[in-house]
Amino acid sequence: MKFSFKILLSMIIVMALSLGFSGYYFVNYVFETSLEREVGQALDENSILSFAFETAALSVPAKYSVMPDTTVEEIASNLEKSGQGSGRLLRISGEEKNILYASDGFDINDELLAQTDESVKTYQVVQSEDKYYIHTGTAVTALNRVLYLETMRDVSDVFRERTMGFSLYRRVMFIMLVAGTVIMHFISSFLTKPVRLLTKATKRMSAGDYSYRAKQVSQDELGQLTSDFNSMAETLEQNIEKLEEEIKAREEFMGDFAHELKTPLTAIIGYADMLRSHKLDEEQSLMSANYIYTEGKRLEAMSFRLLDIIVAGKKEAHLQTTSVEAFFEYLKDMYTANPDMKFSFQYEQGEVTVEVNLIKTVLVNLIDNACKASEKGSKIEVNGYSLEEGYRFSVKDYGIGIPEEEQRKITKAFYMVDKSRARSHNGAGLGLALCVEILKIHDSELEIESETGKGSCFSFVIKNDAQQDSISEKEETKDEV
Ligand code: ADP
Repeated sequence: MKFSFKILLSMIIVMALSLGFSGYYFVNYVFETSLEREVGQALDENSILSFAFETAALSVPAKYSVMPDTTVEEIASNLEKSGQGSGRLLRISGEEKNILYASDGFDINDELLAQTDESVKTYQVVQSEDKYYIHTGTAVTALNRVLYLETMRDVSDVFRERTMGFSLYRRVMFIMLVAGTVIMHFISSFLTKPVRLLTKATKRMSAGDYSYRAKQVSQDELGQLTSDFNSMAETLEQNIEKLEEEIKAREEFMGDFAHELKTPLTAIIGYADMLRSHKLDEEQSLMSANYIYTEGKRLEAMSFRLLDIIVAGKKEAHLQTTSVEAFFEYLKDMYTANPDMKFSFQYEQGEVTVEVNLIKTVLVNLIDNACKASEKGSKIEVNGYSLEEGYRFSVKDYGIGIPEEEQRKITKAFYMVDKSRARSHNGAGLGLALCVEILKIHDSELEIESETGKGSCFSFVIKNDAQQDSISEKEETKDEV
């Protein structure tokens, strides 16, 4: 059952119950009041009749010391007649509660008479056939006799009014319930609109439309729920996009990896086949073995690089504070002996908090790339500057440069701008991908400036301690939140 129908049904039940109870209470209150008034009047009439009876008894001739039964009947008959038109009914009984006179239609049991005595005036509401009466009883003392006077007052109208009241109220209640149901239907639809819109949004999202958002139509708790739902959907959409990108990147990586594996393997298999199936002279055999060796070495280097990337991606850096001088001394020792290039190492003194071996790997990769991209005898500048936010390392060459549209792609694994040139230098397009992974765990990134034919500058900033601390603190608080 729909939520709006549940609300509607509950409202109808509450309305029907409250209308029913209040109507019953109201009609009954009017009835009770009318009946009370009628009882008062019946008792008054009884008192008036008993007074009239006693007065009439005073005119009984003096020869009677006790009122005879015939006189009682006579007075009773006169009293009944005097009330003609009003439907007066009365009954007179003697001391022994034996009936002396009764009006026609005074057909009632003696229960009330039995309870009536000289000190007790009684009444009861009775039903006789389809009529209702107030039956009263009282003792009358007249001429040395104690008699009992009973009256019956027709109150059928009061009961009829009550029945009519109930019937009228039932009709009014029915009309009010129908009108109320229509109004409450609109109210419940209006109240549950945010729920309907949320349901629509969840259906669209589960059907794959992650960009769909529920419309916020109110500012109350349901409006808040819609806004929370939308921000949850936003996060979900971003995570799904990220996952899809990751899957796509992984697939591309696998494709590139298979492709890069194919070239050396084809060469190795081809030359090995030649060696085993043909009789080659010594020079050809040496050449074939040499191809197998170099391609095998390339495969080995590629597998080591891949391993490094995977390890770097999962690793947490073991940071230690080191003077930058140590890096530049290490690089000087490594490269100044190379006569093919003119190296320049210029740096400002400073300290960085890094995992030393990993940053050395980055710098060596960048310098190797700069050498590969440059003509023999070209200049390569390795510089270090102290900045407000940290320390910048840069490697600048005056080589072939990188076209602008390629600059974004070269950090992707297996990407090479000029494949044959890269392969001739034993490249597999993995060096920069490794650098990016290493810099990521140092909360840094690779910046590339390059112009075709003029050269390239690769640089990165190692943030100083305070900033690194604040970054890790921010991350911690983010996690806590
Ligand atoms: P590899 O050097 O093993 O091919 P890298 O990931 O280090 O792989 O570099 C990817 C590609 O980026 C290289 O193949 C090359 O085309 C280009 N590249 C990198 N550094 C430079 C540079 N300093 N000048 C010009 N091209 C470069």
